[in-house]
This record gives sequence, structure tokens and C-alpha cells, in this order.
Amino acid sequence: MNIKIPFVDLNFQHLPIQNKIHSAIQSVLSQGDFILGKALSDFEKAFAQISHAEFGIGVASGTDAIALGLQACNIGAGDEVILPANTFIATLIGVIRAGATPILVDCHPQTALIDLEAALKFVTPRTKAIIPVHLYGQMVSPLELLTFAERNNLLIFEDAAQAHLAYRDGYRAGSVGTAAAFSFYPSKNLGAIGDGGIVLTTNAEVAQKMTRLRNYGASYKYYHTDQGTNSRLDTLQAAVLLEKLPYLSEWNRQRLQIAQLYDSELAPLISQGIIPIQNQSGEGHVYHLYVVKITEACPISRQDLQQRLVSAGIQTGIHYPVPCHLQPAFTHLGYQVGDFPHAETLAKQILSLPMYPGLTQSQVKEVVAVIAEAFSEQKLVMVNTNS
Ligand SMILES: *Cc1c(COP(=O)(O)O)cnc(C)c1O
Repeated sequence: MNIKIPFVDLNFQHLPIQNKIHSAIQSVLSQGDFILGKALSDFEKAFAQISHAEFGIGVASGTDAIALGLQACNIGAGDEVILPANTFIATLIGVIRAGATPILVDCHPQTALIDLEAALKFVTPRTKAIIPVHLYGQMVSPLELLTFAERNNLLIFEDAAQAHLAYRDGYRAGSVGTAAAFSFYPSKNLGAIGDGGIVLTTNAEVAQKMTRLRNYGASYKYYHTDQGTNSRLDTLQAAVLLEKLPYLSEWNRQRLQIAQLYDSELAPLISQGIIPIQNQSGEGHVYHLYVVKITEACPISRQDLQQRLVSAGIQTGIHYPVPCHLQPAFTHLGYQVGDFPHAETLAKQILSLPMYPGLTQSQVKEVVAVIAEAFSEQKLVMVNTNS
């Protein structure tokens, strides 16, 4: 099928700064400081600074940022960690790799963000931390989080993999908790040209332990004080990220504008059952994804709508079709269908529409026009079969 409107197109980010990226790569090549080089420390400082954190420690992926970041916060065996059931599986993998016990909770049906009231029921004397996932680019309310964490004496570890530069209640993503994990997977709001991640923190001890953990647990060369691993952000990736960083807020601004256009174009269809995930953080939402719910009130099923969009050359996605607690790899955690009804309903209803800097207004309008057309055709079919 001919693709007219892809789900993501990274060329809009890379072509205009192609020369800068090439010379950044060339410069690392000629310097030869491929591991823990200068571009890495420069990028770590720059990214921490714009995110209002003190220290940045680059790692090989967002998944490692969660697993090692939790360990750097001294969370491990015997500790319970609360996280949402509807997140990318890496959040759960990170907790398990840190050796901690994951405790899943449900989400708000409107925002898809973790439900702190529901979380309260799962707090035990063993609960050490909560991982708010700033899903789709919207932060979990920092004020509510801080209150929740303080009342229950919990550490906050943010999963900000989808929320570079997002803000809410005066806080930037990555500056709310003791530490935070980001991913630089290519299609994230800030993406490398391969895998990458970073842990941000304002706690010097966490930063130091993190620096050891990613580098074989070494305090200095060949002297190992922690059981670490090899997980460093390549100097090459950091050099590319440094070139892209100055454009991040402009790219996020474009994402917000696209989302606002989707919102207004979709408004007339809300009465027909298509409902955007609620934005409660205004311009602080960085729209990693633009997600709508295809509710039961819609004249057409999600699957048929997705197929209809494909026929029109429009790619969409589902983030995510199976909530963490129902993934086959994690049946041993003992969860069942029905445990987290909001997460389960969302998984059945959500649809992610094309979203990337460079997507044009007319393309957004075309996506919504195809949806509107599919809805009205289906209603005609229903009228005809009823009469
Ligand atoms: C992408 C992502 C991760 C994992 O990052 P990787 O770099 O792919 O390992 C973790 N959590 C969330 C919410 C993500 O979207």
C-alpha cells in the first residue's frame, strides 16, 4: 500500500541539519574518544540543564536508564515499586531488572496517566518508590505526586522516556523526583541515530553511583565497588544528540500545534464517540503521541477504522495493545483479566494518529477527513440495513 501520511517521519528533523550531524560524527571520528568522550559529558550537562536537573548520566538505552537508575537510588530486592499497568513494557522490565517487586496499578480513563488514588491502596510497609510514567508526553501532576510521595514516604523515579522538556505545575520532566529516566530511541521527541538513554538527578550520591553502575561498577579503572554493567551512551550518539538538542523545543512546539489542530478538527466528531486523551497540562504537553479513544459509541470499530486509514495511505499505531499485566512473559506476577479495567479498556480503544514535527496542517485535516468519511459511510450502511 502506498504511504501518503506515515506515522512518523524523521527526515524533517535530520535533513535540515544534515551537515551539522555529519561534521559532529566526523569530529568524534577524528578525536577517537568513542567511549565516555567529550561530546558525552557536554551533552549530559546540556540535557540536565534544560531539564532543570543537576546531573545527567548517559546510558545505552531508556530501559537501562530505568534499571540502573533504580539501583543507583538503592532500590532492589525486597522493595516494592508502584508503576502503571498501561505503559511501555520497558518500565516493568526496568523494575524487575533492578531486582525489585513491581506493583501495578490502574490509570485514569481520561488521561491514561497513573491513578494515584488507586495507587494508595497498594502502599505497604515494603513500598519504596513510585514510577510515574509521563505517558504520551504529558506529565503526571508533580504537585499531586510530591504530596503522594511525601505522605507515604516514597521515592519518586520518573519514567520520562516520552516527555523530553514537558512541564506541569512549574516543574520540568526529570526534575520532580529523586531521579528520572529518558530514552533517545530514534522516534522519541529527542532521538539518537540508534539506541540511547540518560538518567537525570539532582542527588550527587545517586549521580556518582549511576556513573559507576554504567561503567562496570568501577570507582576508578579496574577497581570495582559496585556490581555494575557496561551501559554507556556512545560519544557518537551524544555528539548527534548535542546537534539536535537546540531544536527540541521548536519540534515540541510543532507537536503541540499539530495536537491543537487535531483537537479542533476532531471536536465535531466527539459526539460520535471519538475522544482524544485529555490534556490537563496545557502547553506543557509535548505530544510524543497524539492518541484518541475509539469508544463503543463510534459507528465503526477501531480495527475497521485503522484499515480504512491504511487504504487511504495513512499509518496509525496502538500504544499499547496489551497492558503490562496481561503480557505472556509476566503471567508469573499473578495478574488477571479484570484487574485493571481502565487500562484494559484503553488498550482496546486507543489509536495513535500520525504525529511528528513536519506533519502539515493539510495532512492533519486529511487524516480527520478520512475518519469523518468512514464514520458517515458506516452510518449510511447502518441506516440502509435497518430500513
Ligand atoms: C521508549 C520507552 C522506554 C524504553 O526506552 P528504550 O530506549 O527503548 O529502552 C521506557 N519507557 C517508556 C514509557 C518508553 O516509551
